[in-house]
Amino acid sequence: MTPAATSATNGHVDPVGASVVVVGAGTAGLNAALQLARRGLIVTVIESRRLGAGGARWDNGVLAWQYTRAGIAAPGPDEVHHTSGRTHLYGPGDAGPVTFTGSTVHADMRRLNERLVASCRAEGVNFLDRATGLVPELVDRRVRTLALVAAEPESAVLSSRRLQASLFVDASGRRGVLRTQVASLAEWCPRVPRDLLCTASQHHFDMADRDGALRFLERHRATPGDTVTWVGLDGGFSALAVGVRPELDGVSVLTGTIATGRWGTGRSILDRFLSTAPWIGAQHHGGDGLIPLRRPHARLGASGVALVGDAACQVFPAHGSGIGAGMMAGAILAEQVGAHADPGSDDALWAYQHAFHSELGGTLAAYDAFRRCNSAIGSDGVRRMFASGLFTPEMAGSGLAQRWHEPSLGQSVAAARAYARDVGLARQMVPWLLRCATAERMGAAPPAEQDLGALRRWDRRLARVVGG
Ligand SMILES: Cc1cc2nc3c(=O)[nH]c(=O)nc-3n(C[C@H](O)[C@H](O)[C@H](O)COP(=O)(O)OP(=O)(O)OC[C@H]3O[C@@H](n4cnc5c(N)ncnc54)[C@H](O)[C@@H]3O)c2cc1C
Repeated sequence: MTPAATSATNGHVDPVGASVVVVGAGTAGLNAALQLARRGLIVTVIESRRLGAGGARWDNGVLAWQYTRAGIAAPGPDEVHHTSGRTHLYGPGDAGPVTFTGSTVHADMRRLNERLVASCRAEGVNFLDRATGLVPELVDRRVRTLALVAAEPESAVLSSRRLQASLFVDASGRRGVLRTQVASLAEWCPRVPRDLLCTASQHHFDMADRDGALRFLERHRATPGDTVTWVGLDGGFSALAVGVRPELDGVSVLTGTIATGRWGTGRSILDRFLSTAPWIGAQHHGGDGLIPLRRPHARLGASGVALVGDAACQVFPAHGSGIGAGMMAGAILAEQVGAHADPGSDDALWAYQHAFHSELGGTLAAYDAFRRCNSAIGSDGVRRMFASGLFTPEMAGSGLAQRWHEPSLGQSVAAARAYARDVGLARQMVPWLLRCATAERMGAAPPAEQDLGALRRWDRRLARVVGG
């Protein structure tokens, strides 16, 4: 028997004595750790990969207001590959384009991860990496210790440990390693089915032929620095976005569709595009993965465990963007539990859940319904949205800004005209848009008082409005 195994069987509790243990060193976990440590809590982060290699390894679109709300500085030039200028949006059959100017920062998640790790270290956060075999141990139906095998970063010695804490944060991504092992959360957080998952790819390439790139841009009424995006090619919810750097020295391609297999995968859509674009050169970084597209789980904390990030489905469903929402969840969690005498108590976790849904739940629920609308109308519906004039720069812009806007009077009149041009499309879409508006109000009004019956009723009403 190894010394490590002996310590585990003897019930030895790791001397780290953390008051918070965060599982997962992606962006959501690292920012939760940082914000909690800034409020004076003793935090340990556990990562299954090597420290610094956690979370997304590609470029993600994040918005300036999300960094601010998450409590972290805007990214510097070493982290930002590109800030979107104009986007030219096309539909199936090259319908469009609708052109608008966005302000999404396309940030290198590897650099953001390094920055968050350094900021955490400066606040005294401890790290363990290469963690395996995580088992939460409950006393009186609350997680009090976490058994695992892990090492100090840079150390070669893996050992069994039992970490004690007042609060455990599940930031382990979509699979939710704690969420699935704690019954009081598992019953509220069903497995996300494949029709509510996005299969996505995001890769960066060298430029092989600048003239070829210029011809591509010209064909799509774009100039260097612009993004050319197609929506609806591979099902109503699908995208292919091609960003050519202003210096013409590199290209990024993002693809995504629903993960049932009917429309292929993010990777197969990418490969299909690359086969038509010989001007794109060798790949240098990127990644593929699955993103949950449903509104956040109703219950975001129980039994001493809080959920943040993909583990909580805190993702903007209309385009599968989880970085901003996941990092903001860390700030909201710290605000609500940071000053609490017992940060893992039911009181503290209910306050976090209430604050998150009140602030972001309405928008995420509304765009969950909107995403389902896109899937329901399919590629043909998306084409008809372009043809009727329903797809406007304002509609595309508020989606990219991850904000829900009630249309102004002028926009409503323009939409009514567009619907009059395609009454069949109106019949399909208008009920969905009413659902979006209801979901936006309802999703932002979770029960304030601790009452599981009321939470269940709220969740069911929301499910009836949003679908699913
Ligand atoms: C191709 C692609 C493109 C995307 N584009 C965008 C975009 O443009 N904008 C945007 O906002 N979002 C985008 N997303 C979504 C975004 O990447 C995710 O929502 C985000 O990374 C979720 O962050 P997270 O920290 O919650 O989880 P993750 O990034 O999944 O991190 C979880 C961490 O937990 C660790 N972990 C898992 N299990 C364990 C365990 N048992 N023990 C210890 N550690 C564990 C993992 O190793 C990982 O480091 C994209 C996703 C993909 C796949």
